Amino acid sequence: MTLQNLRIAAGAIVVFCALLPAHAATWTVRSQPARLVNGAPVLFQVKAPAKLDVLSGAWLGHQLTFTYDAATRTWFALAGVSIETPPGKYLLELTGARPSPQALYNFSRSFTVARATYPKIKVELTVEKKFTEPTPEQLQQIEESKKVKEDYFNRVTPDRQWSGAFTAPADAAISDVFGSQRIFNGVAQSPHQGLDFRVPAGTPVAAMNCGTVLLARPTYFEGNFVVLDHGQGLLTLYLHLSEFKVKEGDVVKRGEVIGLSGGTGRATGPHLHVAVRWQGTYLDPARLMQLPLP
Ligand SMILES: [Zn+2]
Repeated sequence: MTLQNLRIAAGAIVVFCALLPAHAATWTVRSQPARLVNGAPVLFQVKAPAKLDVLSGAWLGHQLTFTYDAATRTWFALAGVSIETPPGKYLLELTGARPSPQALYNFSRSFTVARATYPKIKVELTVEKKFTEPTPEQLQQIEESKKVKEDYFNRVTPDRQWSGAFTAPADAAISDVFGSQRIFNGVAQSPHQGLDFRVPAGTPVAAMNCGTVLLARPTYFEGNFVVLDHGQGLLTLYLHLSEFKVKEGDVVKRGEVIGLSGGTGRATGPHLHVAVRWQGTYLDPARLMQLPLP
């Protein structure tokens, strides 16, 4: 057998072996936080049994793209669990690849999702009738705003733009948490999809992480609305602003002022509502800020 043939034969064996399910001992798959709950973001950390060029994952119907951290030899990806996900066991399926010698690695691990406790205390809020009983003309404006959001929210950019922890957009007290049940003019709404900061109008609002300004325009319910794209389907949303300090397409750094707070749109008064959207589901911003991220 020539050296060339030996190389080919060795390569074929590697491919054959690698396509078999890898032994559990060769992979380390962890989550941060260790306990997963519905509505929470999660950082998956993976140590692979071999040097890989790419690692992707499938989790609750979402596609994950992992990033390699050479310092810790760990692959990581930020994901989440929607608030509607029932408690149970769910699989994280991993697929790694390297081109030379060509090999595929597959591994899966199940994670338990527990039920989070979100406030059930109902609060009576009064907002203008145009938000609860809109006229036909207002309904058309609502429809237009909805189209803008659907269009922009589905523009997933493949590359990760965030780096390090997400920080608070304002140095202020929290006035309403994520997941609480609210009632507007006696009509029950869906659970609160963001986090409210008690700030007077005109307070500087900071970007929670690095990203690109996806939206900076008025919409019906959100008022003056800024959306930052952090890549891989992760967005942060800033609502009810009185003033914009950025325009669509701008690249911003964490902590950079993107606007001033206000009470535009469906707001009972001046406050800052921030939301975190990941591949179509809303996640708890407070839990995201608590996550230590690479
Ligand atoms: Zn809110």
